[in-house]
Amino acid sequence: MSELNFKEETSGRWAEIILPLALPNVYTYSVPPKLVEKASPGSRAEVLFGKNKKYAGVIKRIVTTEPPYQTKSLLNILDDDPLLYPEQLQLWQWISEYYMCTEGEVMAAALPANFKLSSETILIFNEDAGENFSGLDDEEFLVAEALLLKKELRLAEVQQVLDVNHVYPVIKRLIDKNICYIQEELNERYKVKKENYVLLNSQFNNEDKLSDLMNDWRGAPRQMELLLAFLHLNKTEGEVSQTALLKKSGATTAQLKGLADKEILFIEKRNVDRVQMMPKAVNIDFELSLAQEICLREVKKVFEEKNVCLLHGITASGKTQVYIRLIEEYFKKGKQDLYLLPEIALTAQIIRRLQKNFGGNIAIYHSKFNNQERIELWNKIRTGEVKIVLGARSSLYLPFKDLGLVIVDEEHDASYKQQEPNPRYNARDAAIYYGSLFNAKIILGSATPSLESYYNAKQNKYGLVKLEERFGGIKLPVMEIVNTMQVVQPKEARGKVMISPQLKEAIEQTVAADKQVILFQNRRGYNPYLICGVCGFIPQCEHCDVSLTLHKYSNKLHCHYCGSTYPKLITCPACGSNNWLEKNFGTEKIEEQLENDFTSLRIARMDVDSVRGKTAHDNLIHLFEQHRLDILVGTQMVVKGLDFEKVSLVGILDADGLLSFADFRVNERAFQLMEQVSGRAGRRNEQGRVLIQAMNVKHPVLALVQQHDYEKFFEFEIEKRKEFFYPPFSRMVMITLRHKEKETVDAAAYKLAALLAQDLKDFITGPAAPVVGRLRNMYLMELMIKLPKEAGMSGSYRKVIRNHINLLQSEKAFKSVTVVTDVDPM
Ligand code: ADP
Ligand code: ZN
Ligand code: ZN
Repeated sequence: MSELNFKEETSGRWAEIILPLALPNVYTYSVPPKLVEKASPGSRAEVLFGKNKKYAGVIKRIVTTEPPYQTKSLLNILDDDPLLYPEQLQLWQWISEYYMCTEGEVMAAALPANFKLSSETILIFNEDAGENFSGLDDEEFLVAEALLLKKELRLAEVQQVLDVNHVYPVIKRLIDKNICYIQEELNERYKVKKENYVLLNSQFNNEDKLSDLMNDWRGAPRQMELLLAFLHLNKTEGEVSQTALLKKSGATTAQLKGLADKEILFIEKRNVDRVQMMPKAVNIDFELSLAQEICLREVKKVFEEKNVCLLHGITASGKTQVYIRLIEEYFKKGKQDLYLLPEIALTAQIIRRLQKNFGGNIAIYHSKFNNQERIELWNKIRTGEVKIVLGARSSLYLPFKDLGLVIVDEEHDASYKQQEPNPRYNARDAAIYYGSLFNAKIILGSATPSLESYYNAKQNKYGLVKLEERFGGIKLPVMEIVNTMQVVQPKEARGKVMISPQLKEAIEQTVAADKQVILFQNRRGYNPYLICGVCGFIPQCEHCDVSLTLHKYSNKLHCHYCGSTYPKLITCPACGSNNWLEKNFGTEKIEEQLENDFTSLRIARMDVDSVRGKTAHDNLIHLFEQHRLDILVGTQMVVKGLDFEKVSLVGILDADGLLSFADFRVNERAFQLMEQVSGRAGRRNEQGRVLIQAMNVKHPVLALVQQHDYEKFFEFEIEKRKEFFYPPFSRMVMITLRHKEKETVDAAAYKLAALLAQDLKDFITGPAAPVVGRLRNMYLMELMIKLPKEAGMSGSYRKVIRNHINLLQSEKAFKSVTVVTDVDPM
């Protein structure tokens, strides 16, 4: 075998390769003379690793010193131009060091599936490509035919088809030619959806022609009705999907086809996801208010001295408009802009707003994109063709060529932090690092900044600019606190108050005034807990230490941690009685209650259960936006960045629930959620109103929310953080150990704590079992490390932690214990 033939000529060059694996180090290979020219950092190389597995790795560095061990040689270079710029390689390294994971793990997360090849990779035939293989060379043709026949092949099988050693370049060309793609488990769930859209023959865009057509209509009255329905939808919605049209008109597909045959309407199959390429025009169609103008000027002034600016702008102050003007400026300088949003806030609403101003210059990037779209966008960003990207967390990995500006909107949002798997990075913080490599400017925006960012601004590390009035001079909503302890309830229905009489009345008034209502409850499902009224038994998940939530739609008990479902219990397994008490309430139950109380109102629910489908979320927002709904009930989803004109009442149904989480950020989270959800009320025209239902009405955070006083809240909270040495005063590292046996995980945790104590004695809290001590049949233990900021994570502490974990796992008894390190956990 040629791989083992080390008698090859040497070039005096070696390549350090990042493999998409959790390997602690980069691996070094020798560069054969024939590849010296093409082998450059950022390109992918085909290599052998382990017994006979092949991978496409990324060249990190080319070195001229021979490593002290025998090296295998690179088999091939896959890219003519490097896939990555040096800045990205630096970002990967930074993420792996800061967040204590391997560069291979970063690579696996950062590269779109089509760029990742290994012997285990599965190639899928692209049915859309058709069977025209005329543009292929012999080798490509052989593989394409095999794929056509079998629909999918493992790379190892391709190897047999071709019977040559170096198959990766062939595969790469086939992917480039769109003949096949790489299966990525995660994304296959989001199969590209095609939908039919109906368009009017442009000939009839002319009023006269259209009325001639109508006047001369003969027969087919159903088709006429259908056409009228189309014209109506076209006017109100802009775009008309076939489904929507048939639903509205009650017509059949055959009748639609009749109109298509007459060439009055056209049916077009469209990939719903695909960003429709709009004209590349920049069209700023608004003027900033005076306050916004001043804000913009201040931001620019900050940027003369600092790279990072925190924009603390109250809800509906028009931060987005300020961003748009900043983007315009950098765009005109020919720089690239990245606009980051929490995934859930990436709705059609914000996309529409930006497309209106930047047309086809803006590209969207999020998890629902398919492989081919990712690759396309990747390449366009790399060449600099795409200048503005709107995306979620992972768009930080895109290969920007000349980044000028990064906007991190809703910078406080916890979904910027990746929870699972590695790299557990915070896109906000990584964006600051990535931006610095380009000397780009970073703007962090929020109405409720994270304590960390606000503290940094106060310490003068970041600039701070405030935008303290709402656009149009509207005041922030009036906040009323409703003491639910004082609500009189009938004896048989005593429990947590769901909709107080005050709230009920406010809803009635609001709807009567032709306005809309948002109700917020942080729990989904019907009943978060059931409890046996006789013996107190609470149904729990078999795999997790979690009580089960009753869901009405499935009529089952659900575990919100592992997703298991169980039949609804009739009799208590402990005492045999059937007297269940329903504790607390989730969004489903609220919806049901509202439907009973307000039979004539249009009510909808927005939570992960109700928006399972990929467009359901946007559809709901759209319906609400068009005032085709009166009340929207929802979880966090209704909070994030949405802008509705006619919402004048917001109800927060259970503030106590928000204020009772066992986490040091509980107050911060509660303040942010309440302020953000309140921010949906009265955004335009007139002042809104918010009712907060609570039992513990004396909680200090409630008073601060009531006054919309972020500054005071900060002062209040920062003191506590200081006292208990929590972030931003310390840097937290959370170590979680997992094992299927309780004794093993406990022993491992105590052992690790003892090891770490040798060096970090004063900084360790725990070990202790977390609130949910068992998840998916695995027992958990946690060790919290709070490190002083000064020494930071720079080098030594991180190494110490790493070493002790390695030491622990080298013990036979603890080999099977999973240890997860989370830096700056959220
Ligand atoms: P924020 O992001 O601060 O919550 P938005 O940018 O969503 O606020 O602004 C709130 C509403 O006010 C939006 O509907 C926006 O279109 C409108 N708005 C804000 N500033 C302007 C402006 N200068 N011209 C026109 N409309 C504006
Ligand atoms: Zn019982
Ligand atoms: Zn479970």
